[in-house]
Amino acid sequence: MDRRAFLSRFTGGRGGRVRPPYTHPGTDFSACLGCAGPCVDACANETGVLLRDAKGVPLLDFARAGCTFCAACLEACPEGVLAAGREPLARVWIEEAACMAHQGVVCVACKQACPEDAVVFEGMLYPRINEACTGCGLCVSACPVEAVAWSG
Ligand code: SF4
Ligand code: SF4
Ligand code: SF4
Repeated sequence: MDRRAFLSRFTGGRGGRVRPPYTHPGTDFSACLGCAGPCVDACANETGVLLRDAKGVPLLDFARAGCTFCAACLEACPEGVLAAGREPLARVWIEEAACMAHQGVVCVACKQACPEDAVVFEGMLYPRINEACTGCGLCVSACPVEAVAWSG
C-alpha cells in the first residue's frame, strides 16, 4: 500500500455528494431529467467538476476537481435550475491524522490551491480552514495525501 492510500484510510469523513453552484438546498431539479445537460458540457471546458447522476441531476465530484464559480454552467442552463446566488457549496475541513503538516512535514499544497486564502497555518504547521471558505473543493484534489474532507 502506498503512502497516499495508507493515509487516506484515516480520512473517515471524506466524500459526499455536493449540489452544484447557483442552487440552494430547496432547488427543484425535475427539469434536469429531460435535459441534455449543457451545464456539464460547459463545465468540461473549465474544471470538469460538474457531473450528472444516473437520473440526470447535476452534482460536483471533488475527487476530480473543484469549482471556480466561473458561472459557465449557470449561463448554459436553459431551464433556470441553476439560478440562485453564490452560496458555500460544502463544509470542508482538514483531517489532522492524515495531514502531513500536522505530522510535522512541511506542505502547503492546500493553501496554494485556495483562491480565498481560507487555509491558515499556525507557524509552518497545523493548517486549518477558516470561515472564508466557499466550499469550492479546489484544495481537495490538491492535497497529495487526501487529507481534505468534505460533506455536501
Ligand atoms: S443545464 Fe440546467 S436543466 Fe439541464 S441538467 Fe444542467 S442544471 Fe439541469
Ligand atoms: S461554476 Fe464553472 S467550475 Fe463551477 S461547476 Fe459551474 S462551470 Fe464548473
Ligand atoms: S479552503 Fe479554499 S480551496 Fe478549500 S474549499 Fe475552502 S475556499 Fe475552496
